[in-house]
Amino acid sequence: GSTIGILGGGQLGRMLAMAAASMGYRVHIFAPEAELPAGDVSAAVTRAAYTDRAALAAFAAAVDVVTVEFENVDAASLEFLGSRVPTRPGARALRVAQDRLAEKDFFTGLGGRVAPYLSVSSPAELEAAVREIGTPGILKTRRFGYDGKGQIRIDSDTSLDAAWTEIGENPSVYEGFVRFDAEFSILLARAEDGSSVVYPAPRNTHESGILALSEVPAPAALAEHIEDAAAMARKVADALSYVGLITLEFFACADGPVFNEMAPRVHNSGHWTIEGAHTSQFENHIRAICGLPLGETGLSARSVRMKNLIGEDANDWAAILADPRAHLHLYGKSEVKPGRKMGHVTWLED
Ligand code: ATP
Ligand code: MG
Ligand code: MG
Repeated sequence: GSTIGILGGGQLGRMLAMAAASMGYRVHIFAPEAELPAGDVSAAVTRAAYTDRAALAAFAAAVDVVTVEFENVDAASLEFLGSRVPTRPGARALRVAQDRLAEKDFFTGLGGRVAPYLSVSSPAELEAAVREIGTPGILKTRRFGYDGKGQIRIDSDTSLDAAWTEIGENPSVYEGFVRFDAEFSILLARAEDGSSVVYPAPRNTHESGILALSEVPAPAALAEHIEDAAAMARKVADALSYVGLITLEFFACADGPVFNEMAPRVHNSGHWTIEGAHTSQFENHIRAICGLPLGETGLSARSVRMKNLIGEDANDWAAILADPRAHLHLYGKSEVKPGRKMGHVTWLED
């Protein structure tokens, strides 16, 4: 049998590993953290820094294909791996997706629409950007932000100096605040031969910058937005010669979809696909990177709802299971922290 190498060891890697195992693959996790939700369910684990060339070389020799569950892996490391073993996706997709500025430039370069944005790398540039784009807006670090971390909302009375300090004086982008009717995401799996499949788009609700809820199907009013966004996602995947599952987040606005960001990996807003789609996002990612035909993405129920269990939410899992139709997923994380994704629950309605 073949061995799949995964860079990153969180819950996305865990669910990828479970899908891979059910298809008969061995999984080898490479990640630096002591606690690895993905490592618990995998055949092998390398605990090393993503830049450790000796560890990467040994990893490359031990696996047949490499993928990522975490987009902030050093792109040069992925290139290094790529010279020894196929990496899917490749370094270019990571480079684009791990930098908000590159991501927005790339997306607009393909003819897509984003919120007005400007690069900010000094207090003077922040002032100029706010003057040009106006308020309200959001200052976001170009790199390493997730779950709303590394972002500050800027209003007309916000001290820009304080905001620049708070963002850690990191290279950032300032973007205009988008008045959206809803948020949704496009999950697309693309195979080696360039064929692709798209999932029914979930409508996503965030609380405090963290995904709280994904609901499928999205309201009918979003159908046209979703169609346009899916066409853009296909363009993006083709332009990157992408192999695997890619996710793009959008705002549905009065005059069409506005791109927010993308993730070169399986995504939290696709967890509902485990029970709610004919083929899960995890299985389709594994199929794509292993050169297998892609599976059907349609709903396996009339509607599906996925709720994240954040921090303390997961403590009361017995109460969640009191509903006999609840599909409970816990990630095996030992420490409960506020804002930490501990698990999720999915409900199908037939
Ligand atoms: P993720 O965990 O999805 O990677 P993130 O930290 O990268 O999150 P974003 O997706 O950029 O952050 O923003 C998180 C949420 O904040 C968005 O889903 C949206 O609800 C809100 N948001 C972000 N940017 C804007 C904007 N320009 N206008 C309005 N709301 C925004
Ligand atoms: Mg993000
Ligand atoms: Mg996001």
